[in-house]
Order: sequence, then C-alpha cells, then structure tokens
Amino acid sequence: MLEINEIFGPTIQGEGKKVGTPSVFIRFGKCNMQCAGFEVEYETPSGTKKCSCDSFYASDIAFRDFWSKYTNHKDLLKEVEKYLPNYKVDIVITGGEPLLYWDDLEFQKLLEYYILNDYNLTIETNGSLDIDFKYDWQKKILFSISVKLSNSKEPLKKRVNNKTLKAIINFTDQAYFKFVVDKEFLPLASKEIKDILSSLPACEVYIMPLGDTAKIIDKNSLDVIKFALENGYKYSDRLHIRVWDNKRGV
Ligand code: SF4
Repeated sequence: MLEINEIFGPTIQGEGKKVGTPSVFIRFGKCNMQCAGFEVEYETPSGTKKCSCDSFYASDIAFRDFWSKYTNHKDLLKEVEKYLPNYKVDIVITGGEPLLYWDDLEFQKLLEYYILNDYNLTIETNGSLDIDFKYDWQKKILFSISVKLSNSKEPLKKRVNNKTLKAIINFTDQAYFKFVVDKEFLPLASKEIKDILSSLPACEVYIMPLGDTAKIIDKNSLDVIKFALENGYKYSDRLHIRVWDNKRGV
C-alpha cells in the first residue's frame, strides 16, 4: 500500500540539480530515521512533543491518519493528474523516505508509468535502505541522495549504506549527492563527506545550508558557499524556503 502525505504543485523544484524546474511533488509518508539533530520541535496529534526534521509531518507515522492510502497506483496517478498543468513538469517523489516503498509493485508501476511517458522523474532519498535494480527503465530515474551526516544524530551504520549508494551511482544515468550542513558543523562536515565519497564512484556533490526558515538559511548560506568553493563541491540554495519559509504545499 502506498501512503501519501501530500501531493502539491505545479511549483518550482527549490533545491539541488534541477532548481527552478516546474514540478509536481508526491510526498510519501514514513521514514526509517528521525534526525533529531535537525532540531525542529513539533507535537504529534496525541500531544507528544518530539524533535526531528522539517518534514516531520511526513516522516513520523504518528501523522499516518492524515495520509491518503492507495492500493493501486492507477488511483494515485489519477489524483496526481489533478495537479498537472497543460505543459510538461518534472515529477518529484519525496518523503519521508520513499525508498521504503521500493519493493512494492505498485510503487514500481508508478515510477515506470512516469518514465515510459517521458516525464523527468526525481526520487529524493536518504540513500540508506537496501534496494535492487531490475528494470532497464530504472536507469532514467534521477536520484537526489541526501546522505545524512552526524549532525542528524543518527548512527553512522544507519546513515551510510555503501552498497546502495554504489548501486545507484553505477546503475542509473544520473545521480547526485546533497549534504545539508550549518556553519557550526562545517569543520566536521569536511572529513565526514570526504570519508563517505572516498569509497564511492565519482558523483556530483551539492552542499546545502541547513534551515527551515529564510532567516536560518541566510545565517548559514555564506559559510556554506565558502565551504563548497574550498572543497570543489557545488552549492545548492533552498529557494522554496527563501520564498515561502516553511509553508507547506507550495
Ligand atoms: S531522513 Fe530525511 S525525512 Fe527522514 S527524518 Fe531525516 S531528514 Fe527527515
């Protein structure tokens, strides 16, 4: 069963390689991590106070009652169709952690439909789950991999899955990394990112400033740009946050 937190768009992709591209987002519910280190405080529907990332409403199953459930991918396609404008947009599969659904046949059929109908399809993932590639069309998926660093407060073994990262880079036509850091974390980030990349095939790397408001992004961006330049990485802003702060569904 596919559990969808929200569908929204058309809007622009706000970060990474395809920033500015008109896109419709399908946000899946559930995540295999909690990332308390990202320090976004929230309350669950039953009143429990917790700390996680800015997508807590999609990653935490405490919000599951608010998610839409689809047993057939065709019903989800129909729903997404309501958001599609009369020109071609990118489809972005995000979460939570959408690769939790990778082994679900309905998930694969959803991806296959978009690829075979010439949509550019991005999957935004933390890259930590075991996945296998079985079909030729899967090469065309653009994987935007945000491997978590120690600032997420998740254990290394859970965050970094070399087997999956290698499989994605080797099998697909294009993939890239996005590492999220704030200025206080930069001294540690340098070594952690190098350690992760050292055992992987070459891949494009973007560094992004941490923050769920324009004010926090502003605070971090200049130092993150300098860090990217010093290390030969690309910088990615988070345009949607600059424009809309942490407003949802835009
Ligand atoms: S992996 Fe991503 S979606 Fe999941 S808790 Fe961490 S930051 Fe949030």
